[in-house]
Amino acid sequence: MPSKKYIFVTGGVTSSLGKGIISASLAKLLQARGYSVTLQKLDPYINIDPGTLNPYEHGECFVTEDGAETDLDLGHYERFLNIPTSQDNNVTTGRIYLSVINKERRGDYLGKTVQIIPHITDEIKRRIKILGTKNKFDFVITEIGGTVGDIESLPYIEAIRQLKWELGPTNCLVIHLTLVPFLSAARELKTKPTQHSVKLLLENGIQPDILVLRTEKHLNQEIRGKVALFCNVDISSVIESIDVSSIYEVPLLMLKEQLDITVLRKTAMTVGETPQLTGWNDFVQKLKNPKITVDIALVGKYVELQDSYKSIMESIVHAGVVNNCRVKLHSIHSERITELNVTELLSKMKGVLVAPGFGDRGIDGKIFAVKYARENNIPFFGICLGLQCAVIEFARNVLGLNSAHSTEMDHKTPHPVIDLMEEQKRITDKGGTMRLGAYLCKVKEGTLTYEAYKSTEIMERHRHRYEFNNYYLPAFEKAGMISTGINPDTNLVEIMEFRNHKWFIGVQFHPEYRSTVLNPHPLFINFVKATIN
Ligand code: GLN
Repeated sequence: MPSKKYIFVTGGVTSSLGKGIISASLAKLLQARGYSVTLQKLDPYINIDPGTLNPYEHGECFVTEDGAETDLDLGHYERFLNIPTSQDNNVTTGRIYLSVINKERRGDYLGKTVQIIPHITDEIKRRIKILGTKNKFDFVITEIGGTVGDIESLPYIEAIRQLKWELGPTNCLVIHLTLVPFLSAARELKTKPTQHSVKLLLENGIQPDILVLRTEKHLNQEIRGKVALFCNVDISSVIESIDVSSIYEVPLLMLKEQLDITVLRKTAMTVGETPQLTGWNDFVQKLKNPKITVDIALVGKYVELQDSYKSIMESIVHAGVVNNCRVKLHSIHSERITELNVTELLSKMKGVLVAPGFGDRGIDGKIFAVKYARENNIPFFGICLGLQCAVIEFARNVLGLNSAHSTEMDHKTPHPVIDLMEEQKRITDKGGTMRLGAYLCKVKEGTLTYEAYKSTEIMERHRHRYEFNNYYLPAFEKAGMISTGINPDTNLVEIMEFRNHKWFIGVQFHPEYRSTVLNPHPLFINFVKATIN
């Protein structure tokens, strides 16, 4: 009998119901009850990973410690569970097909016709089970991207059907998330879409064990009973997921709805004592009762889509809570910023964060924003491309290197202050070839950076091809912009700090991938703190 329990989370009716948050919340509750849990996301698109996708398509690309470019839901998993994920935690259809096709070319299936069933479904099952077998987890929670009924999701649904049958009822559960819309004209909540969505699952051979209903209004017993009756689940398995102002409230709501207890009973696991979630509760209390509000600008070029800067936004929320303040983050499109309007756009801001990015669209606006923050002594935080913009701005406006640029934007610049990394020069493929994942960085003592980290050795995650050009370092340092963090193996500049300023730090890595509810990131904490003082 397998000791692991496999839980699948599917979605019906519409997308964006918050499957990732429900999965992470359930994981959090099981973890709080003493179980070891991991979360996995299966994405039904053909890209090998989301690394080559524009943020407009798919939101932020989340980078794991082992350098995998993954779905942003992995960010939620880490922020909720406080444990790192890896490549195994995110698999796409592209990756599944790639391994099956590679096996076919190697001759692993010699003589056989390679088909969706069993070859693709076997590979899906292998990827699901790998997580459970590589590590000692009690629960593996696998979230299936997309919506039931999509052509792309079918092989995943079939793989779950097979696993359910192979592993037996107490070892495998399906949680289906649907929407119960409120029709204002009729003043009624409607369960029909849920019934249809469950029928779709049944057509594919899956009876969901638990239904989580996303709703704007509370569900009464009558509605719960109706859903139970029409969808063949017991009433305690009809779980309400009501809209809340913060995603961090969802674990508390799920605790109230006893989602965890229902899962434990159905998987024949010990329920034990109700978890206190003290740290989490404190966080939510502080989040909901800020003492002050502070306005910070987030300058980027994908600001139209909230999800593009998900981890940065959440890191700011975490840092706000530590500082007892609510950060009002003003997303400002970098293409909108000009030399003429920069003062008007930024004058009310207590801090400026320039976001990561690629390509030259909106680059001038970012540079104007840095200049404004530097000249007006406004706390500045530059992340990846944000650091690179700060370097370009400083070179142009302080060192007098007028046409200084990054060779990413201008490969003929006479002053390539940001240049392609040596190891990148031979690379032509775009997928998965950046400098990715966690690297060591040595921090200089007596700096704002050290004040934040309180350590001389840190590990941070990366996703870039370009770097600070060390040829220019002496000139920068002489003018007050010093390198406060370097990679000890390659000498690559990881952090720059402008000393004649209240708080001005640019980092080549992505600190936002490491901030969690229980471990908010020190740079974000001190950036927000600087905006308050
Ligand atoms: N485009 C820049 C580079 O590749 C910055 C990347 C980023 O912001 N993630 O180096």
